[in-house]
Amino acid sequence: MDIDAAYLIAGAVGAAVGATVTFVWLFSERRQNAVPEEPTPLVPPGAQAVLSVLSSTTVLLDSSDTVLEASAQAVALGIVRDRRIEPDEIRAMVQQVRRDGQVRESNLTLQRRRGLPAHVSVRVAPLTSRLVIVLALDRTDQQRVENIRRDFVANVSHELKTPVGALNLLAEAVAEAKDDPESVVRFASRMQTESERLTRLVQQIIDLSRLQNDVASDDATTVKVDELVAEACEHSATESERKRIEISRTVEPDLLVHGDRAQLHAAVSNLVENAVTYSPEGSRVVVTAALAGDDVRISVADNGIGIAGPELERIFERFYRVDPARARATGGTGLGRSIVKHVAASNGGTVDVWSEPGAGSTFTLVLPRFQHDLDEEIL
Ligand code: ADP
Repeated sequence: MDIDAAYLIAGAVGAAVGATVTFVWLFSERRQNAVPEEPTPLVPPGAQAVLSVLSSTTVLLDSSDTVLEASAQAVALGIVRDRRIEPDEIRAMVQQVRRDGQVRESNLTLQRRRGLPAHVSVRVAPLTSRLVIVLALDRTDQQRVENIRRDFVANVSHELKTPVGALNLLAEAVAEAKDDPESVVRFASRMQTESERLTRLVQQIIDLSRLQNDVASDDATTVKVDELVAEACEHSATESERKRIEISRTVEPDLLVHGDRAQLHAAVSNLVENAVTYSPEGSRVVVTAALAGDDVRISVADNGIGIAGPELERIFERFYRVDPARARATGGTGLGRSIVKHVAASNGGTVDVWSEPGAGSTFTLVLPRFQHDLDEEIL
């Protein structure tokens, strides 16, 4: 091979190597450019973990107000629908937060597609330059309890006003009739009736406020059912004799329940008392106590005025009376059934009712049976 040929080959090899290196370099360069930059995560790292432990319902919105993250509750509460914030009020809060970066708070009532309206405390805050977070705390239960409490206080005040007002008027009447002994005696007797009603009402309000939580009493003991029934019948003896109502008792022997004796006494006595109160003269009230599986069923049946279907659902509400004028005349406070219901719940039982207007009513207190050998080991 001559020198020229050698140069030619060396040149060709050099050009080939150069071209390959250039190609590889260009290729790698292109690859490098083609690899996208690592995207900065929209939701800051760790944020999801924090959001998942919050007790509030959370919703994360991106810069176009699309929902990025939302807890399941957000949909149930009607805050999020189709990856958008549904209530206008919350959308307006989000806009305000985007405008000035200030945290916004508000208490709202949200109309749910299904179910009752939800009461929520909403807080909207900027999370990053692009993200906005919506926190909603469901206060529906709290609001319901608050409403019940407010109604209860209003009802108690109203109920107390009646006997107190009557006592006031009767006291004035006594003062004016001071020279008429007969009238004084008549007014004094009515004063006594009103003050008894007042005492009964105050006692029932105290009983009810103790029972409200439906928690087992600290004073639970073993209670003999036959004694409970006998005492309840005894409690209404005067009134039943006056109305010539016969109270018959059929109680299985040796039945025991475990509970607060005073509470159970109040409940059974109340059932018998009402059976007598709402029954006509000369009728019959039947009290039975029997075992049914692991339950003791204490039933009080009467042939009295009965209760119509729609009323039946409401008689366990506090201060509810089917016929307020009649109940007032009989000294009813409208708290009796409510007390029975809470006594049942506090002692692990329930209360059932069957009633037919004109035919009568049967109230049944169902309590878990107490078995000496079995239950005593547990207690
Ligand atoms: P009250 O102290 O006024 O009797 P309750 O809560 O015990 O209040 O009862 C609520 C209402 O239910 C009563 O006003 C009465 O109208 C009705 N009711 C309760 N027991 C009977 C019953 N045995 N027969 C007919 N109605 C009854």
